[in-house]
Amino acid sequence: MEAEMREWCVALPKVELHAHLNGSVRDSTLLELAKQLGDRGVIVFEDVKDVIMKNGRSLPECFKLFDLFHILTTDHDTVTRITKEVVGDFAAENVVYLEIRTTPKNNEAKGMTKRSYMNAVLKGLKAVEDVDAVLFDSILRPDETLSRTPVGDLDGVTKKKKIYVRLLLSIDRRETTSAALDTVNLAMEMKDQGVVGIDLSGNPVVGEWETYLPALEHAKELGIPITIHCGEVPNRKEIQAVLDFCPQRLGHVCCLNDEEWKKLKSSMIPVEICLTSNVMTGGAPSLELHHFADLYNAKHPLSLCTDDSGLFSTSLSNEYYLVASTFSLSKAELFRLAQGAVEFAFVDDEVKKFLRAVFEHVARKGLMP
Ligand SMILES: [Zn+2]
Repeated sequence: MEAEMREWCVALPKVELHAHLNGSVRDSTLLELAKQLGDRGVIVFEDVKDVIMKNGRSLPECFKLFDLFHILTTDHDTVTRITKEVVGDFAAENVVYLEIRTTPKNNEAKGMTKRSYMNAVLKGLKAVEDVDAVLFDSILRPDETLSRTPVGDLDGVTKKKKIYVRLLLSIDRRETTSAALDTVNLAMEMKDQGVVGIDLSGNPVVGEWETYLPALEHAKELGIPITIHCGEVPNRKEIQAVLDFCPQRLGHVCCLNDEEWKKLKSSMIPVEICLTSNVMTGGAPSLELHHFADLYNAKHPLSLCTDDSGLFSTSLSNEYYLVASTFSLSKAELFRLAQGAVEFAFVDDEVKKFLRAVFEHVARKGLMP
């Protein structure tokens, strides 16, 4: 039963709205790149080797890997490589739409600007080979699009998997107001190159809301959709300010008090739920006690997401499986959850139409309940 359900969750077409590029790197790639850094004397390979090869890492071990990601992503070619692999990995488990978020990095010593970092990401998207990644500049052809989604596989026909990919630019909480504004302006500049939104993320105990607010307000004025990591720690003042700001989506929403829950529920702001991530980082006490159940029962708009699939040793299929096994959701309910996430994507209506058609096709053909 368990194996059958796991397989079903992999076959289910899925929409991923909260995935950080760096945290989604494969362990095998991480190991290889860490070894190279070790050989060059940049890091001590033995220090990180065991952490990389471990399944189910502790929070301090996760932070050790964060440091490694930071060093790795100062290199353009590495950024290109991991982008390419991350898209391939999501497509392999039948994710049909993926929003990757990443912080454009400025590193003068390494000859990296926010723009050159993003160019390396774009190069990675264009280099995807094993799957058909539909980027910003692709021309949509309805018949072809439908026949090359995971639906093709479910019909028993093996074709190249198709995945729509868009980008969110993250403002890191360590950044200054001016750096945050640069990121928003870059997002505007790259609107025609697949950037569809702005994210606020990073260490939740670092930085002040007031620092990023001018940049977030600027994004709002420019009409760029915004998602914010909210309530990872119980910061009453900031949670209140975020809810008042009313972004298009919220990530996590772990540490809310009764009044804030009420406010969130009446706002109907869609929430990106990251079960494994929240349990591993202590945002939720356990899977069973995760706030997914409360929001789901309240019919609050939700989408299941991985956050950092590499870092937390999970996958989007696994997150669906966890919801099924922990909260006893039926296949039909899981299907509706996946289907519903299309509506919260920051992508244009044209692409949403295709994504809706993918789910309708699967449902009509009886391939899914
Ligand atoms: Zn996140």
